Amino acid sequence: MAGNGEGPAIGIDLGTTYSCVGVWRQWHERVEIIVNDQGNRTTPSYVAFTEEERLIGDGAMNQVAKNPTNTIFDAKRLIGRRFSDESVRSDMKLWPFKVVPGPRDRPMIEVTYRDKQKQFAAEEISSMVLLKMRETAEAFLGLSVKNAVVTVPSYFNDAQRQATMDAGFIAGLNVMSILNEPTAAAIAYELETKAGSDGNKNALVFDLGGGTLDVSLLTIKQGVIEVKATTGDTHLGGEDFDNRIVDYFVEEFKRKLKKDITRDPRAIRRLRTSCERAKRILSLTIQTTIEIDCLYDGIDFSTTLTRAKFEDLNMDLFTMCMKQVKKCLMDANVHISNIHDVVLVGGSTRIPKVQQLLQDFFKGKEMCKSINPDEAVAYGAAVRAAILGGNATEKIHDLLLLEVTPLSLGTAILGDIMSVVIPRNTSIPTKKEDRFTTVGDNQTEVLIDVYQGERTRVTENNFLGEFSLSEIPPAPAGVPEINVCFEMDANGILHVSAEDKATGQMSGMTISKYENGRLSKAEVDRMLKEAKKYKAEDEKFKKKIEAKNALEFYVYKLKNTIKDHKITSKMSPADKMKTKYAIDEAIQWLDCNQFAEIDDFEEKKHYLEDVWNPIVAKMYQWNR
Ligand code: ADP
Ligand code: MG
Repeated sequence: MAGNGEGPAIGIDLGTTYSCVGVWRQWHERVEIIVNDQGNRTTPSYVAFTEEERLIGDGAMNQVAKNPTNTIFDAKRLIGRRFSDESVRSDMKLWPFKVVPGPRDRPMIEVTYRDKQKQFAAEEISSMVLLKMRETAEAFLGLSVKNAVVTVPSYFNDAQRQATMDAGFIAGLNVMSILNEPTAAAIAYELETKAGSDGNKNALVFDLGGGTLDVSLLTIKQGVIEVKATTGDTHLGGEDFDNRIVDYFVEEFKRKLKKDITRDPRAIRRLRTSCERAKRILSLTIQTTIEIDCLYDGIDFSTTLTRAKFEDLNMDLFTMCMKQVKKCLMDANVHISNIHDVVLVGGSTRIPKVQQLLQDFFKGKEMCKSINPDEAVAYGAAVRAAILGGNATEKIHDLLLLEVTPLSLGTAILGDIMSVVIPRNTSIPTKKEDRFTTVGDNQTEVLIDVYQGERTRVTENNFLGEFSLSEIPPAPAGVPEINVCFEMDANGILHVSAEDKATGQMSGMTISKYENGRLSKAEVDRMLKEAKKYKAEDEKFKKKIEAKNALEFYVYKLKNTIKDHKITSKMSPADKMKTKYAIDEAIQWLDCNQFAEIDDFEEKKHYLEDVWNPIVAKMYQWNR
């Protein structure tokens, strides 16, 4: 819980499968990755709803087998997207939870929480994960935390970035900046390796996480980091490796015992959990065992898995990863020999075979892996947070970063083709102009559509807005000269204007960086209010569990006490009876009232104390 005073700004890696939080420790001059209440350095990006409570992180992930439809993960695949997006439609088929269309084509996640049906936007689910990360930091620092830097993949568009900012806001955070994940990892290594570097280099960031592969090529010039190219696969990662092991053992089970465990989803989920654990162990050892009691039909499952077999099961997937590295270098037009650093990011880069294939690809080059790969992004975010939050020490304060446009900005021309005016990765502030004309004879009005994205067809890009320029004097097609100017200021606000050169007639519009597709103020306010309500409910539930535990602890302690002959010998038979009766009654009551209210638990405990305390007092007097 938050203590006194305002804490430092934190860095949060809000991952698809796992999240991680770090903070710059001013006195120690280093980043501290913060462990959560389960002692883990990364927290599953999972939220679960049950009849009784809301669980976030490890607690949510641990109960997924028994509550699949109300356990939400992958919110990052939904955030800032539309229900009708193709990626949403195909991802939905793989999720055990339900996604329904909401207002303005927004995908809504439907769950049953405390026996009621509820719908949540992806922003709300992500805000719950961010809240958990914030609380993790607050518990560690003993201070309340308000300011944060949150990371996103570099291909996220403005809508996805804005939605991530909204999620932070709902979690009660002030998101000072959204930072690209590969840039964050590069910052971490810049800091680690600063000594001796001339500050001018190319870095390849290979991020293989739970469900995604992102390969990015960055240039680093005097502390300024820019993303030059990004490739990857949105469905390639640790979970796919887990699935390969699961499929293998399903077959083994079939072969040996003639039983098909795929019929039992719970058995499959238990098997998957064990396989993931085995995979992690195989990054350190060359053989491990898997043992699961009563996996299917009362049969215990016990087997071994070697690293060699694991690699064999996944070799084609590993090879696919390497193809993306090749593609990234080609896109950026950079030769292998010009890559100075290869940075490993994401939990799955702990797999020795992945490291080896990468090293072979880069002709034996040593990989940057001195920072735990699943922590490098949070590490960099924490450094950035310290710089922005004014906690930077000498060691980091010159690691300044230039803001760049994450995606190209342009307008639609004939045939719905995107005509780029400001290319992606242009440093801001910037001002660029382009010349357009009419397509029809005597056309007196032109419509300027503004889009953002890298695709050739505007319909596949992100629409930001439109305006028209009218009163153009009639002329044959192609004669009028229309000057279109795109200007992005230092705050990411885009001003677009058009001018008819002949008349000087002007028109224009202003688009705030993250406006498109964002939640309305009313929606954000409602979500903020609900977030507070859920937090209060979580707290109430925690208090209830504490009250129940306190009663249980008292009852069983008492039960043990009166087993002690030394004590019972000092009690009268009537007191013995009375105590025993009160204990039995309390145990019975507890069995039937696991979900009673705080007051009930406390009342029961007081009742027992009222029985027991006078008896103890009597014994005490008697002793004297
Ligand atoms: P995200 O993709 O959400 O950013 P991470 O980068 O933390 O998440 O990666 C999570 C993935 O890394 C999971 O699939 C997990 O099984 C895998 N992983 C974590 N540690 C290891 C390890 N020691 N060996 C192999 N895989 C690992
Ligand atoms: Mg990640």
